[in-house]
Amino acid sequence: MLTNDQLDKWDRENFFHPSTHLAQHARGESPNRIVTGGSGVYIEDRDGNRLLDAFAGLYCVNVGYGRTEIADAIAAQAKELAYYHAYVGHGTEASITLARMIVERAPKNMSKVYFGLGGSDANETNIKLVWYYNNILGRADKKKIISRWRGYHGSGLMTGSLTGLELFHKKFDLPLSQVIHTEAPYYYRRPDMAMSEAQFSAHCAAELEALIEREGADTIAAFIGEPVLGTGGIVPPPAGYWEAIQKVLRKHDILLIADEVVTAFGRLGSMFGSNHYGLEADIITIAKGLTSAYAPLSGSIVSDKVWKVLEKGTDENGPIGHGWTYSAHPICAAAGVANLELIDKLDLVTNAGKVGAYFRKAMAEAVGSHAHVGEVRGEGMLCAIEFVEERDNRRFFEPSKKIGPQVAAALLKQGVIGRAMPQGDILGFAPPLCLSEKEADSIVAATVKAVSAVLG
Ligand code: PLP
Repeated sequence: MLTNDQLDKWDRENFFHPSTHLAQHARGESPNRIVTGGSGVYIEDRDGNRLLDAFAGLYCVNVGYGRTEIADAIAAQAKELAYYHAYVGHGTEASITLARMIVERAPKNMSKVYFGLGGSDANETNIKLVWYYNNILGRADKKKIISRWRGYHGSGLMTGSLTGLELFHKKFDLPLSQVIHTEAPYYYRRPDMAMSEAQFSAHCAAELEALIEREGADTIAAFIGEPVLGTGGIVPPPAGYWEAIQKVLRKHDILLIADEVVTAFGRLGSMFGSNHYGLEADIITIAKGLTSAYAPLSGSIVSDKVWKVLEKGTDENGPIGHGWTYSAHPICAAAGVANLELIDKLDLVTNAGKVGAYFRKAMAEAVGSHAHVGEVRGEGMLCAIEFVEERDNRRFFEPSKKIGPQVAAALLKQGVIGRAMPQGDILGFAPPLCLSEKEADSIVAATVKAVSAVLG
């Protein structure tokens, strides 16, 4: 076995890490962690630390670590048939079964699943499908996509453009010109403190409508949004938001893509976020919770309405010119089947709602009245704490003080992993859906210590 020093050296010399300060990492100035194992909500590292992972990796290990049911399904599939492609009508029992299981769980108007590997490529697929759809309908100019500031939809060329966070645009020549952004449904950061939630929702819908009118509805193909803003700050929508937005979209014949990479398969205490908030999407993006990250797999769930046009398109133009070598990879599909079965067997959707509510309430009681805590919020098994310099007039900290990252680092010293969200001083939690109340209490106790270590 390699020594820790050897691994550290090779890591710094050869490994290009995503979302990392490359220079600091290469120079050895920032910490690294070599993760060796995991069980339930805990991970272990090479230095002998056992850490409670209150962010489930990247909100994806929903069933928790070390589930042998999924590992066994992966091994059995790998032994039987590790790979065959899904082009021109090929499939495996695992991929066909999984497509069926997804459509059975999805909102009623959903019809088919295209499989990809991650959330970013699934959203790339979605935009291509939307463009194809409008071309088949003879609407060559209806191509622009509206997303929200603070939305997160991936980091590819198109998906990085859809993402409404500065870090993902800066120095990459993004966003692409086909993408436009509208107001984030972020009630805590509403422009006028006197606004009620309903008024703010109406304001967001009015902003969207004004944008559509400025650009011309006949140039706008789709609107993409997460049911709850995730990486943008873990922000549930204000009351009435989705109803108001969908009214505008319907009026202007604009498709709705619900990006449920975080929310599908139980994160909000409902099977889908679309059910949770009454979204009637035309396409739904899924990834993370589909396999609980035991293998890379994503999907674009396509509604009947879109599917009919895609069929027409291939009748007129021949096979659809879209596909990845690893679409519907049998090993990943087998992981997906075992994962969805486990979610049902353990009733994790119910647990996410129940323990999630307990966790958030306990967190709000423990830190909600701290002088530098502006808000404790969330939904289902999602929770965030937003830190402010001054509570009363909602004055935010200077970003250079890096309060969010400091609290996350202090939390880590307490043995708990939370995530400093990339924009604003926000500490995020998205534990595995199997979290117990006792484990929730441990996260809260560690957070209290971390907050007081940094902010008194
Ligand atoms: N969409 C949402 C809502 C996400 O949260 C993410 C990742 O966090 C993505 C898309 C991109 O997924 P991936 O990182 O698998 O490409």
